[in-house]
Amino acid sequence: MGKVYLVGAGPGDPELLTLKAVRVISEADVILYDRLIGEEVLNFAKPDCKLIYVGKEDGKHTIPQEEINKLLVYYASTHRNIVRLKGGDPFVFGRGGEEALYLKEHGIPYEVVPGVSSAYSVPAYAGIPLTFRGIASSFAVITGHECTGKEKRVNWRAFGSIDTLVILMGVKNRQRIAKELIEAGRVPDEPVAFIERGTTNEQRTVISTLREVASNPPEVKPPAIMVVGEVVRLQSDISQLLENVKNYEGAYHA
Ligand code: SAH
Repeated sequence: MGKVYLVGAGPGDPELLTLKAVRVISEADVILYDRLIGEEVLNFAKPDCKLIYVGKEDGKHTIPQEEINKLLVYYASTHRNIVRLKGGDPFVFGRGGEEALYLKEHGIPYEVVPGVSSAYSVPAYAGIPLTFRGIASSFAVITGHECTGKEKRVNWRAFGSIDTLVILMGVKNRQRIAKELIEAGRVPDEPVAFIERGTTNEQRTVISTLREVASNPPEVKPPAIMVVGEVVRLQSDISQLLENVKNYEGAYHA
């Protein structure tokens, strides 16, 4: 019987893959991968590795979760090393937990290979530290996906007093989220950053405020991360510092 590895591929920059992820990818006989993984990551696979795309298109699952679960069990019966490759970390809004439970229930050996989550690495690449002494001593990572029907909705009131909020999957509902946060008691002038396609060559940062996002939201394309909090003000300082460091390095090596 085979073993399934639930692997985090990091946020996009292939250099943010872990050594363990590279090893299990290079040993895989079958890889079932999602949309948000950087394509370069698949270059580590063996030439004869079976690559199966199971990602979402425009919010719709190409293959329902139940089918993915069954595919994992099926391939575990036909192959030795199966990699389920997900963007960021498999246990941060990646449904990795559900897959792990399913595998356990079906007696399939599995291992989790944590990945660098977009939740903190994308803000970092944009020059935003999630915590900062004297400015932010707590952060929360929240889904901005409006869960309907049976699924539980996010209780935005619970986030009134957490210093930094990181919202994933929130682009579509950004206006609604900003309104909810102001109602929850957050200061309307609080800065907000959206970072599109973080850690890739197409990374783009848009800075705004809660008030503006609530009334006239800026143009933002998914995938993007929304960061709310005073730490966003550090963005320009830190980006400038990083630019300066590059210049010093250039001067030093010249
Ligand atoms: N497991 C993933 C998150 C999956 S949810 C992780 O740990 O990173 C998918 C959401 O993550 C996207 O809607 C977006 O909000 C965010 N995301 C993932 N990669 C991103 C990237 N490179 N740039 C911006 N946002 C990203």
